[in-house]
Amino acid sequence: MESIQVKAYAKINLGLNVLGRRQDGYHEVRMLMQTIRLFDKLTVKMTQTAGITLKSNLSYLPCDDNNLIYRAAALFFEETKQRCGIHVTLEKHIPVAAGLAGGSSDAAATLTALNELYHTGLSLEELKQLGIRLGADVPYCLMQGTALSEGIGERLTPLPAPPPAYCLVVKPPVSVSTRYVYEHLNLSDAPHPDIDALLSALNNKNLALIAANLGNTLESVTIPLHPEIAAIKAELLEAGALGALMSGSGPTVFGLFSDRPKAEHAFYRFKVGEFGKQTYLTNFWNK
Ligand code: ATP
Repeated sequence: MESIQVKAYAKINLGLNVLGRRQDGYHEVRMLMQTIRLFDKLTVKMTQTAGITLKSNLSYLPCDDNNLIYRAAALFFEETKQRCGIHVTLEKHIPVAAGLAGGSSDAAATLTALNELYHTGLSLEELKQLGIRLGADVPYCLMQGTALSEGIGERLTPLPAPPPAYCLVVKPPVSVSTRYVYEHLNLSDAPHPDIDALLSALNNKNLALIAANLGNTLESVTIPLHPEIAAIKAELLEAGALGALMSGSGPTVFGLFSDRPKAEHAFYRFKVGEFGKQTYLTNFWNK
């Protein structure tokens, strides 16, 4: 039986601006997305019996059609008319419900793996069109790297990679519902980061300017709910981060460092503290 192993990378938002709410309820966004070197591992194996089965190392994750891997596989088989018979083993490392697009990235990795395993030859564009039916971040997760994401996440423009940086990721032990955050967003009160300033800093490969322009409209909802997010940001800055921000709808916070000893020192400081269990020292990932 043929099988394939793929990595599903997490993302952070260097900038997340919500422009408005559309009539269909979706929000119009302008986001600067960046893949980081923190990933789940998926092993996708063809089976002789029909059906989709899934097993993961986290007992609380659903293994039925509530899991995005299952849904991605079902959509792939429906669209390509292939005989469905696979077993997926998920080794989950990306924190769940964290603002790091873990589920979307697993869905993207499943589509990529099945396209290869079944030799279906779908182009990246065709995969993205399937992906958007599973979630707004799935097309970006198929593409990976550095990108400007517009519309509801389906309009993607690849961007040059940022200059190298150490990225310290800290996930406090609370879960945040993306839906709740968008529903409670008051756009007139919320901060609106200058995405154009971020793009120009990126084009100039200026890490200090990127760090100075980090911003996320959704912090205005999530931080009042979970004030520890503001405390983590302050601690990252105190430890020498050039900038710190909540990713997505939270609650994960990241800090950017140019200096390795400072980043490592901050990592050990968080590792022995109350958020140590889900603290990661990583960096940007571009193909
Ligand atoms: P985003 O940044 O796109 O909002 P997130 O990182 O906040 O995503 P996920 O980790 O994708 O959130 O999980 C959100 C919910 O989706 C969880 O409550 C979880 O039960 C469900 N889910 C379904 N499939 C998966 C999967 N493969 N991995 C993680 N969560 C999944």
